[in-house]
Amino acid sequence: MNDSLKFSTSNVQKGLENRIEAIKNVERIYNMPEKVFEEWKTESLLKSLKYTSQNSAFYKKKLEAFSGFESFDLHEFSKIPFTLRSEIKENYPFGMLAASMDDIVRYGESTGTSDKPIASYYTLGEWIENNATVALFLNEVLTKQDIVAVAVPYELAFVAQDIDRSLEMLNCTIISIGALTRICPPERMIQLFKDIKVTTLICSVTRAIYLSDVAIEMGFDPSKDFSINKVMCVGEGMSKAKEALVRKLWNAETYSMYGMTETNTLGMFCKEHNQHLVETKAHFEVIDSVTYEPLGYDTFGELIVTSLNTKGIPLIRYRTGDLVKIKSEKCSCGLTFKTFEHSGRLDDHIIIKNKKYPILQLEQIIIGLGDTNYYTLEVVEDSLKIGLCNSAEVFKKVNQQIINKFKETYNLSVTVFPVENAKVKDIIRNSLKPCIKSVLVNG
Ligand SMILES: [Zn+2]
Repeated sequence: MNDSLKFSTSNVQKGLENRIEAIKNVERIYNMPEKVFEEWKTESLLKSLKYTSQNSAFYKKKLEAFSGFESFDLHEFSKIPFTLRSEIKENYPFGMLAASMDDIVRYGESTGTSDKPIASYYTLGEWIENNATVALFLNEVLTKQDIVAVAVPYELAFVAQDIDRSLEMLNCTIISIGALTRICPPERMIQLFKDIKVTTLICSVTRAIYLSDVAIEMGFDPSKDFSINKVMCVGEGMSKAKEALVRKLWNAETYSMYGMTETNTLGMFCKEHNQHLVETKAHFEVIDSVTYEPLGYDTFGELIVTSLNTKGIPLIRYRTGDLVKIKSEKCSCGLTFKTFEHSGRLDDHIIIKNKKYPILQLEQIIIGLGDTNYYTLEVVEDSLKIGLCNSAEVFKKVNQQIINKFKETYNLSVTVFPVENAKVKDIIRNSLKPCIKSVLVNG
């Protein structure tokens, strides 16, 4: 019919076969008996060290002294130097690439706008494997009857694209609403939730709170007038109090997922609401970020990640900058992967009189006392000022409670003052990644 058309279904079939192979690989690994899986992890780690140091121009140079890890004893693992976020930035865009560009199907960047971006790239196999891994966990709580609104930015970063494809694998109905778009502003999102009977909302925890406010302003009661029964939080660390607030506002179950552009998914929830480390994707360590000493279970420290079987952008002992605690307690869901708690970024703290206070710990007190959805933090001359976006009546009720609780917990004298609700909400509404950092005045 048309001799110039070269598109052939054999290419499509080959592509589909590769996809099925990648999905079967995930199935194979997840069905391994525990002992076999432990051996697989060790083997994968050694294989990954070799592959990375021999194929990534960056690591070839950085880890020259390890001679390609040809005969390496894993007991020496802690002697391998860390990889810093700044090194990935310095090597923008392709300095970290360890595969042929022909094999890369996804190019993405971190969405931060403050400085040089972090680039990331995946081969078809690792992209599909990540989709299938996420699908496997989502499958624990979603069915094909679920109607899922994905309110995470689709541009550049992978998280929304990845979740989107994972949901498709499960046959859910997906509404790709994105975030901060002129096509789908918050009011239209709320109307969609109502009209299309959305059951699951995926967004950052702060956006989930903000959207409940928009719903109220539109005359709805978010705890009663919608079909949303699951809120899946991504892209932002949250205190337990904030998670509980989302549960209450939407009258829904909450789940959290964890990952970053340069690593893709690292943590997924289970039906018991715990977060499991995705041990098929990386080898995890937790260290004291000052002394670099390894930390045992149940202690918060910086999460260090070494990717397993990654071809595009493999990382070795990457300092994530995230504050994480790996738990010793086994989860009752039956999954043997370790569970963890994520407590935000290491540098998300304020300093008062040379002492660091992680913001999420302060948030636990402020939101934990109830009645407060938004707050601001400001340090002026070594003194903490907390702004509360509450009605005059509520402010009167909680302000003394907060002062007392800070005194009792941290022996800190704090000043509490009212902040205009509209001002903070406006900042959150216009933030690409709304989180408490968007409304930090300083610190
Ligand atoms: Zn579990």
